[in-house]
Amino acid sequence: MAHLAQTAPSPGASARPLLDVRGVTLQYRTRHHLVTATHRVSFQVCKGDRFVLLGPSGCGKSTLLKGVGGFLRPVEGTMTLQGQEIRGAGPDRMMVFQEFDQLLPWKSVRQNVMFPLVTGGGLSSAAALDRAMKYIVKVGLEKFADAYPHTLSGGMKQRVGIARAMAMEPSMLLMDEPYAALDALTRRKMQEELLVLWNDTRFTTLFVTHSIEEAIVIGTRILVLTPHPGRVRAELNSVPDGVGSPAFAALQRRIEDMLFAPEPAAEVDHA
Ligand code: ADP
Ligand code: MG
Repeated sequence: MAHLAQTAPSPGASARPLLDVRGVTLQYRTRHHLVTATHRVSFQVCKGDRFVLLGPSGCGKSTLLKGVGGFLRPVEGTMTLQGQEIRGAGPDRMMVFQEFDQLLPWKSVRQNVMFPLVTGGGLSSAAALDRAMKYIVKVGLEKFADAYPHTLSGGMKQRVGIARAMAMEPSMLLMDEPYAALDALTRRKMQEELLVLWNDTRFTTLFVTHSIEEAIVIGTRILVLTPHPGRVRAELNSVPDGVGSPAFAALQRRIEDMLFAPEPAAEVDHA
């Protein structure tokens, strides 16, 4: 596949990370149980990163996203976004959902992107229209502003979904296994689309997947989590080479070995 620049715009060694997660333990308290979903997880996401949380089902990836989203408070550790402790949900962290359930079919592209700006963003319709068009242009869909979702390809729908999230001007996009339900070919197309779009717009994303291959394709950085409860097994740089290249295969094997081997100390690649 065409592979694009993997490295984030250099934030500089001294730059403060956008998101700083330190020693975070997240739990669910049900009537009869206390479930520890993640144990003392730490990672840092810089502006422009495509930061991937990778691990087997049940290791707490979605729970971590809920934590970052502000829907679940840590019982231990801290999470800060731009230096401010995360205390609740906010429009500075937008969740991007699977392409097939995110757009309102009876609204045009423009109306879909405007909708949350008016209902959630408190913008007047004139301001929302301006803002929506700015992001529709940014994702290259200006010719389709009046089109309805059913007339668009999957990749275009994803662009609309991302334009809609980006129009809220969040500091990061949270993506929880957005392609998990797609067939392999469609998934590959959507991954490529996302990389092309990232190359144009340089959004920051925290992207969850259980697929090693997807993590390497999408990520600039990859946080490998152990099975339940999720702990950090490794934090790795991805590789710029495409699927099937020796570097890609080597990283894939390295991660496979980690996920299937017993657990020694965490490994960290230098950023
Ligand atoms: P992943 O997204 O990596 O598959 P999750 O974050 O969904 O994992 O879940 C992590 C752990 O927390 C699992 O053991 C899961 O059963 C548990 N869990 C998730 N949501 C809840 C909930 N609402 N109440 C109780 N336990 C939960
Ligand atoms: Mg999940």
